[in-house]
Amino acid sequence: MSVSAIDFESAARALADTGRDLAARGWTPATSSNFSMRLDESSCAITISGRDKGRLGVDDFMRVDLDGRALDPGKKPSAETLLHTQLYRRFPEAGAVLHTHSLVQTVASRLFEADGFVELAGYELLKAFRGFETHDAMMRVPVFPNTQDMGELSHAVDSLFDAEVPMQAYLISGHGVYTWGRDLAETRRHLEAIEFLLACELELRRHRR
Ligand SMILES: [Zn+2]
Repeated sequence: MSVSAIDFESAARALADTGRDLAARGWTPATSSNFSMRLDESSCAITISGRDKGRLGVDDFMRVDLDGRALDPGKKPSAETLLHTQLYRRFPEAGAVLHTHSLVQTVASRLFEADGFVELAGYELLKAFRGFETHDAMMRVPVFPNTQDMGELSHAVDSLFDAEVPMQAYLISGHGVYTWGRDLAETRRHLEAIEFLLACELELRRHRR
């Protein structure tokens, strides 16, 4: 396994810095969103739910195992923790997961829910995604219906991975985006790219009307 262990405090500080930046862009309204980083083969650090993502400190994070169980007594992981740990379980190389609720992500997810995906093609910025080396690549970002049943949602995500659909992000309708990468820098690049490309799709729709 190519995972190098990182200590909890360093991970929490790196995620808190990222949270400040994402909150400043308005991508984490009203304490929504959650961020995580892999610590080793069997655990990750993740935000505790309900915290202001622009003002995170080390105490706003906790350790969970890759089945989403708390490793820090007295701290309770959010329900969406399962959507993070599922990615670390499936992809040994995954080092970070970012989940945000921006306006663009939320509107695009609703607009494309009936299609089941957003097709992104013809964009230079597709090269920002790992595995998509040229601008003439095409990427489908799946859109799942929103639910409070995280078991059901993680099942739906897993079945697309089982079908080997190439993806680096997915949307949940009326909710937001999940994206992941080998480390926090790559995951941020994926998040910025998906936000920009979804904004392009919304803008194109407006002009085509
Ligand atoms: Zn969410």
